[in-house]
Amino acid sequence: MALSHSLGFPRIGRDRELKKALEAHWKGELDEAGLQAVGRELRAAHWQVQKDAGIELLPVGDFAWYDQVLAHSLTLGVIPERFRPHSGKPSLDTLFSMARGVSQGCCGGAHAQELTKWFDTNYHYLVPEFTADQRFQLSWEQLFDEVAEAHALGHRVKPVLIGPLTYLWLGKVKGDAGGANCFDKLELLDRLLPLYGEILGRLAAQGVEWVQIDEPILGLDLPQDWKNAFERAYHLLQHAPLKKLVATYFSGLDDNLGLAVGLPVDGLHVDLVRAPEQLPLLLDRLPAYKVLSLGVVNGRNVWRCDLDKALAQLQQAQERFGANLWVAGSCSLLHSPVDLNREDQLDGELQGWLAFAVQKCAEIAILARAVNQPQAAEVQAALAESRALQASRAGSSRIHQAAVQARLNAITPADSQRISPFVERIDKQRARLQLPALPTTTIGSFPQTAAIRLARQSFKAGKLSAAAYTEAMHSEIRHAVDVQENLGLDVLVHGEAERNDMVEYFAEQLDGYAFTRFGWVQSYGSRCVKPAVIVGDLSRPRPMTVEWIRYAQGLTDKVMKGMLTGPVTMLMWSFPREDVSREVQARQLALAIRDEVQDLEAAGIKIVQIDEAAFREGLPLRKAQWADYLAWASEAFRLCASGVRDETQIHTHMCYSEFNDVIESIAAMDADVITIETSRSDMQLLEAFEAFAYPNDIGPGVYDIHSPRVPDTHEMVNLMRKAAQRIPVERLWVNPDCGLKTRAWAETEAALVNMVAAARQLRSELA
Ligand code: GLN
Ligand code: ZN
Repeated sequence: MALSHSLGFPRIGRDRELKKALEAHWKGELDEAGLQAVGRELRAAHWQVQKDAGIELLPVGDFAWYDQVLAHSLTLGVIPERFRPHSGKPSLDTLFSMARGVSQGCCGGAHAQELTKWFDTNYHYLVPEFTADQRFQLSWEQLFDEVAEAHALGHRVKPVLIGPLTYLWLGKVKGDAGGANCFDKLELLDRLLPLYGEILGRLAAQGVEWVQIDEPILGLDLPQDWKNAFERAYHLLQHAPLKKLVATYFSGLDDNLGLAVGLPVDGLHVDLVRAPEQLPLLLDRLPAYKVLSLGVVNGRNVWRCDLDKALAQLQQAQERFGANLWVAGSCSLLHSPVDLNREDQLDGELQGWLAFAVQKCAEIAILARAVNQPQAAEVQAALAESRALQASRAGSSRIHQAAVQARLNAITPADSQRISPFVERIDKQRARLQLPALPTTTIGSFPQTAAIRLARQSFKAGKLSAAAYTEAMHSEIRHAVDVQENLGLDVLVHGEAERNDMVEYFAEQLDGYAFTRFGWVQSYGSRCVKPAVIVGDLSRPRPMTVEWIRYAQGLTDKVMKGMLTGPVTMLMWSFPREDVSREVQARQLALAIRDEVQDLEAAGIKIVQIDEAAFREGLPLRKAQWADYLAWASEAFRLCASGVRDETQIHTHMCYSEFNDVIESIAAMDADVITIETSRSDMQLLEAFEAFAYPNDIGPGVYDIHSPRVPDTHEMVNLMRKAAQRIPVERLWVNPDCGLKTRAWAETEAALVNMVAAARQLRSELA
């Protein structure tokens, strides 16, 4: 009989109970016992809801106080020296210190562990820190405690562990400078494996039959020594007295397929949503005495599963695997919102098209049932319902807009190209803009004060009239313009007071988007995001930003920069459609934003910035797929940016630091000016812009906006001097690393005074 299981369930709770409890605990309003009680209730509720939905084998170890990688680090005793308790075992305080850092106090501060993206999701994990003399020692009982807890509740569970290779891959070697060069973290494997053996032994002693070992790096391009290490590691673990399911997700096995099917384990889970094409090869290569777990329900999106399609895949596998076939989500449901039934304001049609984690469990269960008892009335009813919903979507006028499709079909290559090349455009722009050398600007947002947030919320709740709201925003804009004029900045911004979020603000004004009220997904720790949902063809019914920017420009003789979010970022931070490609959705977004760029130009705005914060994030996990992504992503950007005259200057902004491997595609976007984050890397990342001879203007960030520290003029002058060694000074701009919305006004003004002084000093040296 095919078995239904879950790789993991969201831990935050349907009302974000975990977020609220964590934040109360950190504020000292909830003691540890209270926090533990919330955790226990959430775990019990999540096991029950999965079981009620029909999941037969429930996950344990998917709950974490902050992050599952951090919990695993504690389990293995990978606790950086600066957090190590003086005596005894680590505590919950140790865990939160590792996650959040310890501020300077009596005993000196300790910076938090680094946070980074979990594969290609918007979840962030805490990067394990290894030292050359790293020891591994069982140091945290959470997993075993939770297994006992589930057993006590009468559940049949499958503990989830991050695999040894994936764990090492995710970590970083720290320690004495240069040490990293002579030390390869893979060397830690032999020290790590005995502890895995011990953990598996403990679980077996608790009566566990199956353990899930997550090795998502089997979906990446692995160096040969890592591939070899897989064989060695699982060979050593094969005698552990329980059954092992190795789980892969987020991409196909590709060249690691032979390695994965040959591992001496009892089962393999694969992501058929991301890589359906691997099924025939798997059926051919995986020995039928092993379990094949097929991830057919998308764990990363909000759409109901097409049950017919999933069932067809399962039935193919059933012929060969029979009772060894398992049915699951593509990955842990951590990446989808919790419960659709919590939504109280969705229209019935849309509600019918969606499925969150709870509903996905029911889909997994009914699919397993459909494999086992295809004729059961319940199964037939579910399949019929699924068919009807798929058909209703496929034919819905809410989704398919003839005008959008016609416009998409009419795109020509010329639409994605500025009229003249950069070298000609820039002369016209300089003549029109009349800016000094090393022009100063900011990235767009100014401090989002409590008053601003209150005004936005009151307006949304209907408590503030449109006129009063507009006046409140106008007054913020006046303030921002005043401050910038007094500071002597060259290119001004309106400050983005009216925006809650750089994606949601635009999504709310586009046709084709929908919004949930409770569709929260954990981003890291207690932080959750509620991505907008792309439901249908996208278009812009009316201008979105023009009135605000026009108002701002009317207040000053300086150049006011219009501020938009780019198509790739809009897409990456939304739940996308599954019935058309990401590329098509990016192009639709690009056309909508293109209209806005043109309207800004027509309103007399001379510079328009189009932010692409998520451009690099969209990179596929496999290098072989990069070129394709980069081609359509940079084309989408050009499509939105190229509808203007040569004289109109297009800026873009990207807030990260690694450009080496994508610099040519960044150049292919052909923005006249790009502003990037560089201060934290001491301008090092400009190496990419030097090696490739990046052709257009660049504003390398001269100060870190993530910290309240106010850098002095001297420091910024030095950074700009470094930049000028690599990039001709006539192509340099002076600006902070990113937007200032998380900062307070006092430190913002202080830092910008120094920044303007730095630019002036450098200009006088040039003269
Ligand atoms: N214009 C946005 C801001 O200044 C850019 C933010 C971002 O790139 N993350 O806030
Ligand atoms: Zn940024």
